[in-house]
Amino acid sequence: MKAEVGGMEPLDLRTAVVRLAADGRVVHANTAAQHLLLGASPEGALIEDLLGRAEKLGKIASGTAGQIVRALASGNADATECFKLLDGSSILMVAGPVAGGTLVEWSDITPYVEAMRAQERDPLTGLLARPAMLREIAAMVQSGEPAALLYIGLDRFTSVNNMLGHMAGDKLLQKVSGRIVGLVPADAVMARVGGDEFAVLLRADSEAATAMAGRLLEMVARPFLIDGQSAHVGTSIGLAHLDPADPPENQLRNARLALLKAKADGGDAIQVFTDAMREELEQARLLEIDLRQALVLREFSLAYQPQYEIDGRRLIGFEALLRWHHPKRGPVSPAHFIPLAEELGLIVPIGEWVIRAACKAAAEWPLPLSISVNISPLQFRSPNIVAIVTSALKNSGLDPSRLELEVTEGALLLDSEPVMNIFRQLKALGLRFAMDDFGTGYSSLSYLQQFPFDKIKIDQSFVRNLPASPDGIAIVRAVSALGSSLGLSIIAEGVETEEQLASIRQNGCKQVQGYLTGRPLAPDMAEALIASAATAGEGKAS
Ligand code: C2E
Ligand code: CA
Ligand code: CA
Repeated sequence: MKAEVGGMEPLDLRTAVVRLAADGRVVHANTAAQHLLLGASPEGALIEDLLGRAEKLGKIASGTAGQIVRALASGNADATECFKLLDGSSILMVAGPVAGGTLVEWSDITPYVEAMRAQERDPLTGLLARPAMLREIAAMVQSGEPAALLYIGLDRFTSVNNMLGHMAGDKLLQKVSGRIVGLVPADAVMARVGGDEFAVLLRADSEAATAMAGRLLEMVARPFLIDGQSAHVGTSIGLAHLDPADPPENQLRNARLALLKAKADGGDAIQVFTDAMREELEQARLLEIDLRQALVLREFSLAYQPQYEIDGRRLIGFEALLRWHHPKRGPVSPAHFIPLAEELGLIVPIGEWVIRAACKAAAEWPLPLSISVNISPLQFRSPNIVAIVTSALKNSGLDPSRLELEVTEGALLLDSEPVMNIFRQLKALGLRFAMDDFGTGYSSLSYLQQFPFDKIKIDQSFVRNLPASPDGIAIVRAVSALGSSLGLSIIAEGVETEEQLASIRQNGCKQVQGYLTGRPLAPDMAEALIASAATAGEGKAS
């Protein structure tokens, strides 16, 4: 016998069937029914007596027999009732009229009930799970009462988890949830909405919600005792007042965004979701829509920033820098839209356009100068990067030795055979690699050891404070020495003053790129610069 519940897959249940006469006496009971509640050979006995006996025998909780009998006697054409056996099983009863009496079916729906419960509750803390929380938020919004959502995140959970182990981590989460439950009012709804994230839905005005957030922050900050050890985690809380205009997902997202802001500001803090944050979200959403169309609408272009040999100020090449000119917004800074393009995965097609456009432009320059193209981490790991570069070189006719790819250490992975392979395949095409933003990562040197770079770009941050900064000088000197011993070229970025230029030169750096020697130029300006370099007889030897 199979029962279909709420459109789910039919469950295989051990269904008990009982046929009753109009006076409530058992006409027939199958073995499952006898086993479940009625006992052997129940025919002829009154159902209420049999159930009463089952209750006395401890098969069902006291009161359950009455509940079943009332449902059967209710006279409803189809009576359904759920009850539990004392062994924990959940039984669904369906009873309907048949000729001369009633047919009763009892089905064990325990697996179904457990599956439902698993969706509703977080097994570790017993708190509601996310979908249930979303329903609660929807109901609260409907009720129209002022309410707030607190999104609670633990600040140092991962380190506690790593130090004390996962079991201890689980206990800690249980204890945190226990403290929160102990503090919030009885009608608050609590959920575990992430690994170390909890949400509390409060019926409260802004003042009460802020006060509650403050108390929670203080309570969770107190040390926990776990397996005899003291553990300390901080908390940050994002607070969002429910806004009837927002769907439940967004309410939760708003509160979480406020939490992330609180964490970014250093943690152990409460941050309220503000109109300014909402505006920022809206702007990001609009920017995303525009960015998705920018490629097809041909709103991108490249600017070319010249690079020079310091001695003799000989032009050696250009870095291609992406520009987005939006018809209404005007120029949008790459520092603004490239991170978004990376987040959305759009950097892969946009980056492909950059590679092709840069190769094509450089192939038409009157001098065989080098062209540097920035490759973002996501692009570097996309499977067809080698094919794209190969085809860009072939279509443009650019000599591969003129192409230089700029990658940051973030694009690479140490000890990763697949990444190493891509690097090797690209180098085998005959192009060169420059390590961008050198010194800003954690292990620039290790990357240099593993990957055969041709050039190092000293990051602007080291150049900015020259010639005064001893650190800056030390870096330029060390990197230049490293470069000459490894046979790599060294270029300093972001050089803006003659003093900075003199300083990098003094400390061994031979190439320069910066506002002092040339800002990024529109294509025709770059071509004009190359043409004048050509007449001056430069750029022939490289
Ligand atoms: P980056 O690769 O470090 O590029 C150098 C940035 O420094 C450029 O900013 C350039 O205009 C700026 N700059 C050059 N000289 C000076 C100077 O003397 N002083 C100062 N203050 N700045 C200088 P831009 O064009 O705004 O690009 C910013 C970043 O956006 C780039 O940093 C790069 O990471 C990224 N980017 C630009 N174009 C592309 C691209 O086509 N693909 C990818 N993946 N990223 C790109
Ligand atoms: Ca660069
Ligand atoms: Ca750079």
